[in-house]
Amino acid sequence: MTVNQTEMHPTRWGDPARARALPDEARGLVEMVFGVDDRPAVEHPALAPSALTPELVAGLEEIVGVGHVLTDDETRRLRTRGKSTPDLLRARVGDLADAPDAVVRPADHDEVAAVLAFAVEHRLAVVPFGGGTSVTGGLVARREGFAGVLSLDLVWMKRLLSVDHVSMTATLEPGLRGPEAEALLAAEGMTIGHFPQSFEYASLGGFAATRSSGQSSAGFGRFDALVVGMTVATPRGRIDLGTAPANAAGPDLRQLFLGSEGTLGVITSLTVRVRPVPAVQVYECWRWSSFADGATAMRTLAQSGLLPTVLRLSDESESAINLADPAAIGGEAATGCLMVTGFEGEPAAVEAKRAAVTTVFEGLGGTYAGTAAGEKWAHGRYDAPYLRDSLLDAGVLVETLETATFWSNLDRVYTGVKAALEAALGQPSLVLCHISHVYETGASLYYTIAAKETDDPVGQWRAAKAAASDAMLAAGATITHHHAVGTDHLPWFEREIGPVGVSILRAVKADLDPTGVLNPGVLIP
Ligand SMILES: Cc1cc2nc3c(=O)[nH]c(=O)nc-3n(C[C@H](O)[C@H](O)[C@H](O)COP(=O)(O)OP(=O)(O)OC[C@H]3O[C@@H](n4cnc5c(N)ncnc54)[C@H](O)[C@@H]3O)c2cc1C
Repeated sequence: MTVNQTEMHPTRWGDPARARALPDEARGLVEMVFGVDDRPAVEHPALAPSALTPELVAGLEEIVGVGHVLTDDETRRLRTRGKSTPDLLRARVGDLADAPDAVVRPADHDEVAAVLAFAVEHRLAVVPFGGGTSVTGGLVARREGFAGVLSLDLVWMKRLLSVDHVSMTATLEPGLRGPEAEALLAAEGMTIGHFPQSFEYASLGGFAATRSSGQSSAGFGRFDALVVGMTVATPRGRIDLGTAPANAAGPDLRQLFLGSEGTLGVITSLTVRVRPVPAVQVYECWRWSSFADGATAMRTLAQSGLLPTVLRLSDESESAINLADPAAIGGEAATGCLMVTGFEGEPAAVEAKRAAVTTVFEGLGGTYAGTAAGEKWAHGRYDAPYLRDSLLDAGVLVETLETATFWSNLDRVYTGVKAALEAALGQPSLVLCHISHVYETGASLYYTIAAKETDDPVGQWRAAKAAASDAMLAAGATITHHHAVGTDHLPWFEREIGPVGVSILRAVKADLDPTGVLNPGVLIP
């Protein structure tokens, strides 16, 4: 695993060195399905000047030090918004209207607390910034009523603070990106094992603040389930949570901050469960005659305690694209639905689990499709976002969205959301789906769409997203299983939690952040 410390491209995903044009073959396919419509991005979008006065800059420098308050265009550009398709589309045409006025880089909890106090005193909005991979508008603070917007960049808070080899926990700072945290823990023979597709750039603080889910979907999927403790800086003061592996000491206050998206406080350290680096990793594939049959097989595993570490099932449309190279799955006709299973751990345990899963799947009519396609998936798991940029270059709108529901409701949600997306996007478009995470009681559905861009691709996507979000709630599903609320999901989130839920959130916000400086406009309806 390489430790990647490069900044992301301001208008694209990931490492600028890995940006690439659409390969000729894919370009041919795009031409056939959508028609290529080259849309080059503005390379250095212009910014409005920083609204911060020299006095405010000097005041912040007193807290974090000279050189740690940055108001130059390049740094502000890199801290503008997240990496959703609308974020990229707006940046690509030169719209960086949400740029912060300054990027402030604290070194530790006390500096974070002091910046918050300064922000309260001077009415500055504060946007905690981890990896900048938000896909729901979580980094777009409302500016009205504030003297300026600060990006509170946690890039210097990257220490492994302690490791408890007996309890198998580690305490780390929030600014560590996925690979950085894993590299520090690997030196201790340990891993967190949380691998979302954004792993290469997203931070531990961001994982906690958004309750993200990794691709080890059935094993160490949810980050919130890995967190045993945390320290949070709030405008009200510091709170340390997590004194035991479990307790009955009232409601679990950790849950208030997990998923709080920088609106209630800044997470300044996290204690997480760790495990030994797995000795063996095996990824393989199964084929099912239908999405429903594959889903039944997943549910059977989940409800019999036999889940592998990775388990995902593509629907017919997504499988058809994944199976474009039949040789990759053993040369047979590529029909039906493709499932990836991944097993990690000690060799004997991995073999025992594989054998048990094989017995269940064979009994349910699954066809084993070998390890090649599974290994290919594991190898290329972080590449797809680069392809999104290449497709945007060619005038193809690409975006993802996700939801979750109970097993008994899965088909209703699957068909309802798919139909809503297809109707809203019109032709030519593709709507692909996979089951990304499974539980005993239900599963998450993850959709990928591709459509020919109109003259207003942001509006085009907003309309499709609204239709899909309405369909989710109409079918009784959640507005988000793991992308969080941000600003994009707010209207549906409000409907999902109802007036009493809204009232609770507002009361907590009013208490912890009475002047509302933390991420105004995000999460709290
Ligand atoms: C290509 C791509 C793939 C993705 N794949 C996945 C996936 O597989 N699974 C998944 O769950 N998500 C995924 N996401 C969404 C995103 O990566 C996650 O939400 C991630 O957890 C965000 O982490 P971050 O460090 O980038 O946070 P940021 O984007 O920096 O911040 C996200 C939110 O958390 C707040 N925040 C950040 N750090 C702190 C802190 N220390 N204290 C308080 N608040 C804080 C921010 O203010 C913001 O509201 C993907 C996104 C992209 C672009």
